[in-house]
Amino acid sequence: MQSFELALKIKQDSFSKENQREQWYPIITIKMDGEIRLRVLLVEDEIRLAEALEQILKKQGYIVDVANDGAVGQDMAETGIYGVIILDRNLPSVEGVEVLKHLRKKHISTPIILLTAKDTVSNRIEGLDAGADDYLIKPFSKDELLARVRALSRRSENLQTSDTLCVASLNLDIRSQEVLIGREKTKLTVTEAQLLELLMRNQGQVLTKEQILDRIWGFDKEVEIKNVELYIFYLRKKIDFEKSGVSINTIRGVGYSLKEIQP
Ligand code: CA
Repeated sequence: MQSFELALKIKQDSFSKENQREQWYPIITIKMDGEIRLRVLLVEDEIRLAEALEQILKKQGYIVDVANDGAVGQDMAETGIYGVIILDRNLPSVEGVEVLKHLRKKHISTPIILLTAKDTVSNRIEGLDAGADDYLIKPFSKDELLARVRALSRRSENLQTSDTLCVASLNLDIRSQEVLIGREKTKLTVTEAQLLELLMRNQGQVLTKEQILDRIWGFDKEVEIKNVELYIFYLRKKIDFEKSGVSINTIRGVGYSLKEIQP
């Protein structure tokens, strides 16, 4: 078989396989071992505490990403892929409350638990005013943390189910996986919709292929970088981007960026 024929066959096979997988799950989760798991971001600079909390959360079945610094945590949180964020208040590079304010300004609505060492009323008010959903004072018990995470993950799931994303004339209903441009409706597969959602949530930013792979396919070891390219190809084929006023730009050797087309 010629190599281009083989490539085409692989494309067709994975396309039909993908079309069979229609069960929807939000981008704040990853499907792993047949289970839908919530992604939690932990931003904590005390390494030992961070490691302990990571283990506790993982044991409960959460997918946990850890940042040990405010700026890194902020970048990760901005992707909008987390169901709950646990954010320490006192952090190097960017303070927890500043991270919080920045995220809310960017319309990242992920529920956030703020961790703090000090418990004063003014401290608490400042945190809640900045957009925290909950507050935990160090030291806290494992059960207390897990109960708060459970409560916020329910809120997070409710936030997700009614969401429609919009950039220029491109509308994505993330629950039905339908794209609407004017009156034209296009049905996407789950993976296509998740990829488009990720790009739309990170509008104007460059996402590397590795980041996309990590965030869409999670820990599925069988999936390769080539799949990212393939799904970008599907999206470009299915959606009339020009009409929507949006484009997915390729940054050669790096990744992709979704941008509004400037008239
Ligand atoms: Ca700290």
